[in-house]
Amino acid sequence: MTGKAYLVGSGPGGLGLLTMRAREVIDAADVVLYDQLPGEEILATLPVHAERIDCGKYGGSHTLEQHEIEALMVAKVREGKTVVRLKGGDPFLFGRGGEEIEVLREHGIPVEVVPGVTSAIAVPELVGIPVTHRRYASEVTFITGHEDPTKPESALDWEVLARLKGTLVILMGVKNLPAITAALAAHGKDPATPVAVIERGLRPDQRVTVGTIADIAGKARAAGVRPPAVIVIGGVVELYDGEGLAG
Ligand code: SAH
Repeated sequence: MTGKAYLVGSGPGGLGLLTMRAREVIDAADVVLYDQLPGEEILATLPVHAERIDCGKYGGSHTLEQHEIEALMVAKVREGKTVVRLKGGDPFLFGRGGEEIEVLREHGIPVEVVPGVTSAIAVPELVGIPVTHRRYASEVTFITGHEDPTKPESALDWEVLARLKGTLVILMGVKNLPAITAALAAHGKDPATPVAVIERGLRPDQRVTVGTIADIAGKARAAGVRPPAVIVIGGVVELYDGEGLAG
């Protein structure tokens, strides 16, 4: 007996941005493996009949390692279960969804991916910042801030990133914000380039901190900025409306 696996994006938080397909497969699941990024509002609606497995606290120590999550998905599907792996935003943008689908395919497990609204676009958008704009940015680059730019083995080329004229959107970048802004400045990015850090987008305690390449690290430290947050760098930040369009 073989079940099926679904890799599902929850959107950036809040039921309004959960897709209808996501709702459908979540409600039909026998097992839901989730982490904290989908947020309280969505996690509160996971079906009571399903086995709900918490795979980790956001930003804290993981309750389950990545390989344990993958092994669990395989085992549950093999038991004939319908398994939903629920991830924040879109499952294929810095969500390790790509790795999970590889493992499932290796085991010959049928899998459907349900795209989600990514925080990388929606979180800035909901405070009035478009990631592209004819006047400010004709390109946008999504970057993981997980890597310390001062490490020589960094997979990112900061020299190239500093030269790009478009918007830079950085996920998982709070901890490395000082190193990231320093690396961009060192490679010639204008220190006056505006930066917005949007913490806990779409949550009741959402907060925005704005500054420039030169001063955002200090401002973020002073404000006690913590993950999860989306960092936006570029002229589009001038469109920040100070309130949040959704508010
Ligand atoms: N796949 C997800 C991203 C996973 S990486 C997506 O498409 O949105 C996790 C990072 O996403 C966090 O460190 C943070 O940078 C960002 N993030 C996700 N949801 C967020 C939210 N509601 N508010 C702010 N940042 C968020």
